Amino acid sequence: MPIPIYDPLHAPGGALKRLPLLKAAVLFIATVCLCLCGLLYLQLEQSRRHDLELAEAASSNLTRAMAQQAEDTFMKADLVLTSLADWIQVEGFGPTQLARLQKTFARRVLTLDQLHGIFLFDKQGQWVITSYSDLPRGLGVSDREYFKFHQQNVSSLAHIGPAIRSRENGDWIIPVSKRVNDKNGNFQGVLMAGIKMSYFDQFFKSFSIDGNGSMFLALTDGTLLARRPFVESQIGTSLAQGTIFQKHLPSARSGNAMIGSVVDGTVRLYGYRQLDAYPLVVSAASSRDAILKSWYATAFQSSVIVAMVVLGVGLFGWVFIHQVRDGERIEADLRKAQEALELIATHDSLTGLANRRLFERALEIEFGRGARQSSPLSLVMLDIDFFKRYNDTYGHVAGDHCLAEVAKALKSCCHRKSDLAVRYGGEEFAVLLPDTDIHGALAIAEQVRRAVMDKNITHSGSPTGYVTVSLGCYSFVPTGRDDIEVFIQRADAALYQAKHSGRNRSAVLSLEGGVEALMRSDR
Ligand code: GH3
Ligand code: MG
Ligand code: MG
Repeated sequence: MPIPIYDPLHAPGGALKRLPLLKAAVLFIATVCLCLCGLLYLQLEQSRRHDLELAEAASSNLTRAMAQQAEDTFMKADLVLTSLADWIQVEGFGPTQLARLQKTFARRVLTLDQLHGIFLFDKQGQWVITSYSDLPRGLGVSDREYFKFHQQNVSSLAHIGPAIRSRENGDWIIPVSKRVNDKNGNFQGVLMAGIKMSYFDQFFKSFSIDGNGSMFLALTDGTLLARRPFVESQIGTSLAQGTIFQKHLPSARSGNAMIGSVVDGTVRLYGYRQLDAYPLVVSAASSRDAILKSWYATAFQSSVIVAMVVLGVGLFGWVFIHQVRDGERIEADLRKAQEALELIATHDSLTGLANRRLFERALEIEFGRGARQSSPLSLVMLDIDFFKRYNDTYGHVAGDHCLAEVAKALKSCCHRKSDLAVRYGGEEFAVLLPDTDIHGALAIAEQVRRAVMDKNITHSGSPTGYVTVSLGCYSFVPTGRDDIEVFIQRADAALYQAKHSGRNRSAVLSLEGGVEALMRSDR
């Protein structure tokens, strides 16, 4: 781990954190891509909803038209039957009335397109009069649903029965019928008008719906009366179990519903409407795929364009991120190299302590800070005793080793982060102690002296027999106009005094200008 450059005010970690460019780039590109996809989704969802709303409006209009047409068709037949029934109830249908009634029936059928024929059946179900002039007598209609209905119900209202095949010519007809009573209200027969199913077919065919679409007319009990496309086998079947009759009609007489077919799996938009005047339901359906056909095309085009833009942004981002990464790696290598250089330029290679260059920089900083804060600044100068002899006795390699050991002892006594241990030159060291008065400096000096002695480095050339050091301390409160050289000279003077007082001791320079040597020898 590199030793940081001395700067107690800007300790490591205090520097401004760099913006993580790589993370920012990834985040930015991801955000752009997400925004593009989000916008596409919103736009497509909105246009899809719009297309479906238009289709629902069209479906409502279509079912309204179908309901109106069905109501008109049945109402006209109903009116014809009502007037005929009233007439028959008053006049009866004896032999004298037959010819006149037959002509009236035929005229009514000619007037109304939707009518297949008009029939009067007696109470046994045999026809009495029909709109056909030459109809042979058949088996009767006592088995038909509408005949049985009127036999059993006294209601004089028109009844619409399930679609049947005419026994006259095999055409599909929807019977609208009325009960005929005598003057006392007794059942006398049934008057029936057959409505051509082909009339509805043609009407349904006049609308343009898609190939998967459908239209139908049914009784409210679900019995199918007419349908486009026409499938003969389905006429008369019940739709009562379908979703429209089960779920939608009970809650609303008209509306729209998107329903998936259990038969072919096609999802269709169904418009449905129950008639007010008759127990009838009309419905028209368009397949969802047909409704959304143009939307699918637009969605595909937009998605391809957005996918290409996203791909482009992604590619650009990939290249950019790689370049940023390379740049960051180069920058990190440069920073490491710079730190290594800075370390070499500011530290001593033998002991690892700060060198004179860093010492001078630190002195300038601490002089300024001490002056600003009026706090004392101390310097301890250290010189190994009889080191020339040590070199002479043990050689320079051992001398260098001894210097490293003394440096270690010195370093171990620098407890504060702001204390700076320096190799001042040769076998001379210094400790700069910010915010420390002379008593503190002297205490540190003594700690260092003891730490060196505790190393017990044999020195036959020293009177003590092991390596010792002498230390000089000086402390003052910087004023802002101080001279660094004088500061060092005073600590050096204290060291000189320690040497001359017998070595292996610490001395302080008194503020009065004299030197006060403190004996701290520990022999
Ligand atoms: P004193 O007690 O008065 O200090 O006596 P001294 O012999 O230590 O005298 P001085 O402080 O003048 O000693 C300087 C000697 O330190 C000279 C040289 O032999 C030795 N020296 C200086 N730098 C180095 C170094 O980097 N490596 C080694 N091995 N010796 C050094
Ligand atoms: Mg010396
Ligand atoms: Mg010396």
